[in-house]
Amino acid sequence: MQLAEIAQALQIESQPAWEDIIVTSVCFDSRNLEPGALFIPLVANNDGHDYVQSAIEKGAVATLWQLDHQEQIVDLPQLLVPNSLQALQKLAKYYLNKINPQVVAITGSNGKTTTKDMTAAVLATQYNVQKTQANFNNEIGVPLTILAMEPHTEILVVELGMDHPGELTVLSELVEPDVAVITMIGEAHLEFFGTRDKIADAKMEIVTGLKEDGVLIYKGNEPLLQERVAKISQESLTFGMDEAVLVDYQAEQIKSDGVQTRFMIKNHNTPELTIPLMGEYNVANALAASAVGEYFHITGMNLQKALREFALTKNRTEWVSGKQGARILSDVYNSNPTAAKEVLKTIADLPVVGEKIVVLGDMLELGTQSAQLHASLAEVINADEISQVYLCGEMMRHLGEVLADKMPAERIHLYDVTDKERLLADLQKEIKSDDLVLVKGSHGIHLEEIVAGLAE
Ligand code: ATP
Ligand code: MG
Repeated sequence: MQLAEIAQALQIESQPAWEDIIVTSVCFDSRNLEPGALFIPLVANNDGHDYVQSAIEKGAVATLWQLDHQEQIVDLPQLLVPNSLQALQKLAKYYLNKINPQVVAITGSNGKTTTKDMTAAVLATQYNVQKTQANFNNEIGVPLTILAMEPHTEILVVELGMDHPGELTVLSELVEPDVAVITMIGEAHLEFFGTRDKIADAKMEIVTGLKEDGVLIYKGNEPLLQERVAKISQESLTFGMDEAVLVDYQAEQIKSDGVQTRFMIKNHNTPELTIPLMGEYNVANALAASAVGEYFHITGMNLQKALREFALTKNRTEWVSGKQGARILSDVYNSNPTAAKEVLKTIADLPVVGEKIVVLGDMLELGTQSAQLHASLAEVINADEISQVYLCGEMMRHLGEVLADKMPAERIHLYDVTDKERLLADLQKEIKSDDLVLVKGSHGIHLEEIVAGLAE
């Protein structure tokens, strides 16, 4: 775009001398700036205006500049704006309308990135698709995703994240989805929201910008969503795993070997589907992607091919081979009760020659219900299946107490977060070659140190 068009999109004045300058990308982090970019100095913990010199060195051709920084002299063509972040969003809105793709927006407590990657892979078999890179799902990432779109994009698949009420309203109104997906309601960010009801309200904000003739695709066996969806005017479709609840997309004949999972969609004449992932929760994510695919008339063959071959942005649940030859399932990027229960259920179903050992770190940001939610993991820890439980962190002690009723105390081991060296040493003594070890915790607990210590 020429600078004149950008100024027009932002409804501001530009200097005639600069109007012909051509901008080929936008960037707010001078370290990643590509030549030809418009620099957007955002004001947060750091003030982006202080980095304009480095942006110039990297080849920025122009910059936005906040009016309140006017006293700072900058040697680069600039557009003065009241607020850089709002200007970024406004420019994104303009560009979205200009390219005018259909939009699929995905939210939910867990599974957003996985479902986004699956959906984009499915749609890419028949359309030009652009998707959120990495995890760029917030008020900055979403506009950047839009502005990174190629001109011929037919469908944009965006991940919308949120950690406070009102955030999804802004994002949904920005992208105005044709299709909105809610993967599930969990307990992530319970600390800020207080109740799952309030989390459900916040997720439902995705409907705010949903087109009148658009469709909402959501997890059908979630009562909190059912009651809310009943009140919206747009159409809706459901998916789910629970046999007891009638949904539009229901998985059946699920078979997993711990690496990939096969399943059929009930009452649909799609072929058997395979995903290169384990865990029933990933089948649910694939059902959501299938529903979006069908909405866009993707053929059964293309759906099958895309799901079989799709690549995750980053597989957060990954197999690592341990020094002693043990198999380690590492899931240390984030944790919350729903995700932890899902992965515990998944390993319960896996065959093993040796023993199953679990290493669980505290789940952060759960607020006042934290102790109880940690304890609730005991529901999915079967003492006949799991031989040793290693718990790391203050809150995991509550799980330890409940587990003590189900299994002998000598199989439950407690550690402070500061005591990871001892935890690692104990695990190294315990783990044998045929064992399967699950390591899961919130990122703040840094169990990746344990995985690194155990890995080959
Ligand atoms: P973030 O909020 O960090 O962006 P996300 O919603 O994008 O997370 P993913 O990256 O797709 O989620 O998955 C993160 C983890 O959540 C997975 O490793 C898995 O443990 C769990 N998970 C994924 N999908 C589901 C699901 N449908 N239900 C419950 N847990 C899930
Ligand atoms: Mg994500």
